[in-house]
Amino acid sequence: MQICRSVEACRSAVRALKSEKGRVAFVPTMGALHEGHMALVEKAREVGDSVVASLFINPTQFGQASDFETYPRDEERDLAMFEAAGVDAVLIPDVSEIYPEGNETIVETTRLANMLHGIVRPGHFRGVTTVVARLFNIVQPDIAVFGEKDYQQLQVIRRMVRDLHFPVEIFGVPTRRAPDGLALSSRNARLSNESRKAATVLSRALDAATERAKSGQSIAQIRSAIETVIAGEPLAELRGLDIVEAQTLEPLGAQFDRPTAIMLSVEIDGVLLIDQKELYP
Ligand code: AMP
Repeated sequence: MQICRSVEACRSAVRALKSEKGRVAFVPTMGALHEGHMALVEKAREVGDSVVASLFINPTQFGQASDFETYPRDEERDLAMFEAAGVDAVLIPDVSEIYPEGNETIVETTRLANMLHGIVRPGHFRGVTTVVARLFNIVQPDIAVFGEKDYQQLQVIRRMVRDLHFPVEIFGVPTRRAPDGLALSSRNARLSNESRKAATVLSRALDAATERAKSGQSIAQIRSAIETVIAGEPLAELRGLDIVEAQTLEPLGAQFDRPTAIMLSVEIDGVLLIDQKELYP
């Protein structure tokens, strides 16, 4: 596995991979890897001929400098996981490599970035598109793979790629879960034993919503099923519940009559967890 710390080293590794193997699939991450990230690598191996991953904690997508500074870092462990998963090359740039002195260019999806989660986290999605555009221009992959867990992020990236004509095919990967349903996340490590048990409330709420949707109930009834399950868990506080049209994230009418996305955020004992579900009538 090649380790590239500069733009130049990465470009030359990718050139070699393209000519030796064919299509390059790219998996951007911020490290603190878990099996959810490995699901992306598996997909990348399936759809590409070689896999390039990145480990870069992007400062421009954090609202508070303290969150950026305390983000978990364990380069050695992350590299070992990528290597074991069959990644061909990893880009691990310094911040100054991605954001050179005097840089001033941003990329923003002006509507999608500033609704729903983007209202709670101003500037977050602008930071994501700004870094992903830079990473795409450095790596120049044929394919890039993102998790459906960060549902709005996936839609923002699809829109950016379409609008800016990036020659990159985007794949979304279903959320990888623990056996009890909890979506894997680096934040789960912050949960105490008791709150870890309570954290299954997110997937339980989404399962209840799915049941209601299957029996032809309205959007309001689907919403109330979720609220009821969350209210039944004393450690959980509902922080965000958006039920919108899949992909466009536009508002829905009263009936469940088209592809629908549920975006859920719940705080459990000070830890904010997110989960998501797409429903099809
Ligand atoms: P992060 O390192 O948190 O920026 O995440 C890197 C990528 O991994 C993003 O595309 C996430 O959506 C994806 N991801 C995170 N958790 C999961 C999961 N449990 N299942 C699938 N993909 C995930």
